[in-house]
Amino acid sequence: MSWQQRFRQALDQRRAADGWRQRRIIDEQTTRTLHSGGRCYHHFSSNDYLGLTRHPAVIAAWQQGAALTGAGAGASGHVTGYHRQHADLEAQLADWLGYERALLFISGFAANQAVIHLLGEKNDRILADKLSHASLLDAASHSPAQLRRFSHNAPESLAARLVSPCEGETLVVTEGIFSMDGDSAPLAALAQQTRQAGGWLLVDDAHGIGVVGEQGRGSCWQQGVRPELQVITFGKAFGVSGAALLCDADTADYFLQFSRHLIYSTAMPAAQAFALQAALHEVQQGEALRQRLQQNIRHFRRGAASLPWQLMDSESAIQPLLVGENSEAVALSARLAEAGCWVSAIRPPTVPPGTARLRITLTAAHRPEDIDRLLEALHDAAG
Ligand SMILES: *Cc1c(COP(=O)(O)O)cnc(C)c1O
Repeated sequence: MSWQQRFRQALDQRRAADGWRQRRIIDEQTTRTLHSGGRCYHHFSSNDYLGLTRHPAVIAAWQQGAALTGAGAGASGHVTGYHRQHADLEAQLADWLGYERALLFISGFAANQAVIHLLGEKNDRILADKLSHASLLDAASHSPAQLRRFSHNAPESLAARLVSPCEGETLVVTEGIFSMDGDSAPLAALAQQTRQAGGWLLVDDAHGIGVVGEQGRGSCWQQGVRPELQVITFGKAFGVSGAALLCDADTADYFLQFSRHLIYSTAMPAAQAFALQAALHEVQQGEALRQRLQQNIRHFRRGAASLPWQLMDSESAIQPLLVGENSEAVALSARLAEAGCWVSAIRPPTVPPGTARLRITLTAAHRPEDIDRLLEALHDAAG
């Protein structure tokens, strides 16, 4: 089969399964509102949980940083791309979360690939929650280490995998708050199982950091767990982009010597690291924002309880409504758009077949009347 034939076949299948993914041009957006195609919508599809993408202090820091250090880092961190602003941010993050070291990456995707790529060698095994993010599962399936998945949020399923013998090292992988379901991992039980078996735990807390835990320190802090490795990302509650790996000193040195993702890639702009310091400050001081977000979550769940679609078991900012069929999820998303509410439909392969859903995300920037509008539109759509 030629490339052309292969592409055409895959694209035809995608269309036939109502799985076609369409990018839309967004003309303008805030955390609450979005303009596209000449219309204005209430925005329920961003991961900007605290509304920091628009925070004046974060924007000012990025502007100042760019004026001071230039638009880009100019090189890999191993050449001349490691600026004072990167070093300061790494030190602040390590101190905040109680780790010896933090290492910056340009994205959460890159950080997860780097960790799995570097750690998994032949004879090792990676045991991952089966709903882990694609960046983790993709890397693990290409790793020379053996990949086994365990049932979602099920320590007993992990335990059953851990009893089978393994010659090498064991890395257990999970998320703090799951990106498509919004539920939290039972981190204490997973950490205990992992430690008993002599393995290491990696928690990707993309959706927990900034949102839960004292000072926004995330899911691990909230649950009193300190995994050997933690990946946090800055494209969600931090309102910027980028990521960090939190680890001990030897692990950080090993990454700096051997991680190709760090060595052969241009560092994030120093101005971005400076903006992230401002965002970190807002996250740490963000108790009022986190409270407002929690109120919005409660408000939504109360109003959505009587809808015909299953509300998932989530107390987080991610509030999916399980619809089932792809075509129904797409139709419902279109109905809501007509009513002025922007909510993305999420379909396989991002989620398991038959579990297409609306992924509603709430933020601290939403006002009660925004949520009432969404609830009204959902109840209307339910007939
Ligand atoms: C968003 C996300 C990532 C990817 O992070 P980026 O910085 O957007 O590349 C990784 N893991 C999880 C769980 C995510 O939700």
